[in-house]
Amino acid sequence: MKQNSDRKIKRIVIKIGSNILASAEQGLNTRRLSSLSKEISEVIDAGNEVVIVSSGAVAAGLKKLNLKKIPKDIQLKQAAAAIGQSSLMWAYEQNFARFNKKVAQILLTRNDVENRLRYINAKNTIFTLMSYGVIPLINENDPVAVDEIKFGDNDMLAALTAGLVEADMLIILSDVEGLYSMDPINKGSKIIKHVDKITPDIEKMAGGKSSAVGTGGMYSKLLAAKQANDHGIPVVVMSGKKSSLLPRFIHGKEVGTYFEPKKERLSSKKGWIAYGVRTKGSIRLDEGAVKALTEMGRSLLPSGIAGVEGGFEVGDYIKCLNADGKKIAKGLTNYSSKDLKQIKGKKTSEIEKILGYKYSDEVIHRDNLVIV
Ligand code: GLU
Repeated sequence: MKQNSDRKIKRIVIKIGSNILASAEQGLNTRRLSSLSKEISEVIDAGNEVVIVSSGAVAAGLKKLNLKKIPKDIQLKQAAAAIGQSSLMWAYEQNFARFNKKVAQILLTRNDVENRLRYINAKNTIFTLMSYGVIPLINENDPVAVDEIKFGDNDMLAALTAGLVEADMLIILSDVEGLYSMDPINKGSKIIKHVDKITPDIEKMAGGKSSAVGTGGMYSKLLAAKQANDHGIPVVVMSGKKSSLLPRFIHGKEVGTYFEPKKERLSSKKGWIAYGVRTKGSIRLDEGAVKALTEMGRSLLPSGIAGVEGGFEVGDYIKCLNADGKKIAKGLTNYSSKDLKQIKGKKTSEIEKILGYKYSDEVIHRDNLVIV
């Protein structure tokens, strides 16, 4: 399939990497930001909705703090993010105003995404902003995020955002032109235009290299692409340093690397279960239950549970493993680990007799379950 054929693009998440917008030596690259604002405005004026996930806060802050590179000291890095974020927003605001566009800032941490209520609140706010024609500008809330609650990098945040807003497309603007067949210093290296499926061979092509001021290298872009593709969202990685690539892509030209999504879309809720939330423990399923879940789309009953690992409560998210310990599903449990240890392998009709109560027949209802 050609990159841009038979797709109607409507809601687009555009991720802009740190290296495009800022450097430690120069601070914010206002020229680049200005031309990107123009190009993104053109994308919007062509009838699309755009949500921007922008990095660059830390890099922009470094210059203001007279630092030459990202400090090891986490508090100084967080201070750089705080000081740079206001410059970043100010620059976006000024630039988009030239094209009669308004912007709004949303700063997220992993906790906000993991908590269903906050996740839905963030989603509602973003949808409200879009209904007013305002461009939501998202970044990680770096000044308050500590390692355990970090997304890792903004590529991941962009993939989560694409799922959150049920985007039709994720565009990752990077300092590279796309995925290279081998390290671009090699002569024979060329851009892969189309990736049907992100296989281990494709992952090898991405190496593990990260860029100078951002956190993500090509590998992290692949992980983000894989996540968005799993949601059913196509992804394009292209250079954000060159002018007019974005409008060219929107008008149907082949640009960068296109990652083909899965045919079926994950609902926003299932996408959140798959990628937004972290699990507390796991259960091992017998062969029959694995089949019932993966092939027949059934709910999980206690009879299919062979083992329980870790401690969890009612309403926690847990992993479902097959006999080999491989994760096959993830879902919300209606029973605690303590209860499950007693009712595993038993019929639903026995639950009440064993526990003295019964919350439901299913341990995990299929609406709260996602196959991974
Ligand atoms: N949130 C960071 C920033 O705005 C960037 C993280 C990343 O490089 O992916 O500077």
